[in-house]
Amino acid sequence: MTTTAKRRVLISGASISGPALAYWLHRSGFAVTVVEKAGALRDGGYPIDIRGTAIEVVRRMGILPRLRDAHIDSRRATFLDADGGEVASLTPSAVAGSVEGQDLEVRRGDLAAVLYALVRDDVEFLFNDSIDTLDQSEEAVDVTFHSGRRRTFDLVVGADGMHSQTRESLFGPEEQFHRYLGYCFAIFTMPNTFGLSHELMVWNTPGKAAALYAVGDDDELHAFLNFYRPDLPSDALRDPDAQRDLVATTFAGAGWEVPGMVSAMRDADDLFFDTAGQIRMPQWSKGRVALIGDAAYAPSFLTGQGSSLALAGAYMLANALAANQDHAAAFAAYERDLREFVAMNQALVDKGGATLFPTTAQALEQRNTRLRSLVTMPAAAARPAHSALTLPTIVPMP
Ligand SMILES: Cc1cc2nc3c(=O)[nH]c(=O)nc-3n(C[C@H](O)[C@H](O)[C@H](O)COP(=O)(O)OP(=O)(O)OC[C@H]3O[C@@H](n4cnc5c(N)ncnc54)[C@H](O)[C@@H]3O)c2cc1C
Repeated sequence: MTTTAKRRVLISGASISGPALAYWLHRSGFAVTVVEKAGALRDGGYPIDIRGTAIEVVRRMGILPRLRDAHIDSRRATFLDADGGEVASLTPSAVAGSVEGQDLEVRRGDLAAVLYALVRDDVEFLFNDSIDTLDQSEEAVDVTFHSGRRRTFDLVVGADGMHSQTRESLFGPEEQFHRYLGYCFAIFTMPNTFGLSHELMVWNTPGKAAALYAVGDDDELHAFLNFYRPDLPSDALRDPDAQRDLVATTFAGAGWEVPGMVSAMRDADDLFFDTAGQIRMPQWSKGRVALIGDAAYAPSFLTGQGSSLALAGAYMLANALAANQDHAAAFAAYERDLREFVAMNQALVDKGGATLFPTTAQALEQRNTRLRSLVTMPAAAARPAHSALTLPTIVPMP
């Protein structure tokens, strides 16, 4: 009688897609190691949505009740004009295209913590480390870590986000795959001196938006400054001072609470500045290394589908690997079965075309008219793209 050795998989990144993949691969009999650059699980981040197909993924993982408990349940989204006057006030799900009572919005850190708790006892985690080199042969992948340790794995998966190092080392610079959507944004926290609770306030002028998001009754708010900028501000991307200056210059003279937000941004120690963009790649794997989540197909926060794609992608890759001993066949099946779902979700937004961030006065007026009509209409139906993937049942090979 022969016993087959467990296939060894290294996953780079312990946020959403990495631990989700680790869970499904462990269940299918793989020996899983996750390496994470940060010293511990990363908390924080803007609230994220879990919708449609991804709800079924978390149900199958047994974590739906825990995530329902963590659901933010915002009560109101209020849109304001240039002077801070109210344009419309409505339920957040009507705006986001989420299905009330089904889809979930949770703090990103809560989702990461629930996923980690699910796998921490079954999967090896290496925090405060990262992959330095990947050396692939016919049989395996030899990995050198930043810490100096060396290990050999059968497969490696990059779940290391939009600016994936795994992708860069395999396929080259991000510029080839980054599709800039024309917006830049800054997010940070600031004190909730406005008495806001369970609600979102959004101020717009053409090409500019400022939002304050009170998640529950927290004494801190998530502040968000977003602006249209047709050309990628490459210089600002690597320089935090230049980022602060760019945001401050862009919002100079703006009304409502924007001046206070800009000065809070100057003082914030958790400022996150980035461009809104997507990752579009002709191929998600090379040899024994594959990519999932934002590393392979980030849809951008403008679609609100990043975490749902990450969860669904992890499930589909695990399904393909469980069903195929041959990794090349598995990676091909993963791409074949997931690509259309990814394409539909990435198509939810086009350059300068984000529904909540109109770039011209005319588009803003049209959006406001639509928002006002939503106040009196029944809750929006689910977007077809959110549920366009039917999940197979993962059947591990005997
Ligand atoms: C402002 C904003 C709002 C958003 N809103 C939403 C929303 O409403 N809905 C939604 O679904 N999504 C939203 N997102 C996006 C969402 O957070 C991501 O799309 C989703 O978490 C993808 O998960 P991931 O695990 O693939 O990648 P990430 O969450 O980016 O995780 C990558 C992980 O890899 C680690 N890492 C990076 N480099 C290395 C390395 N070299 N070695 C080891 N580890 C490494 C990182 O520390 C991190 O833990 C938003 C994002 C932003 C910025």
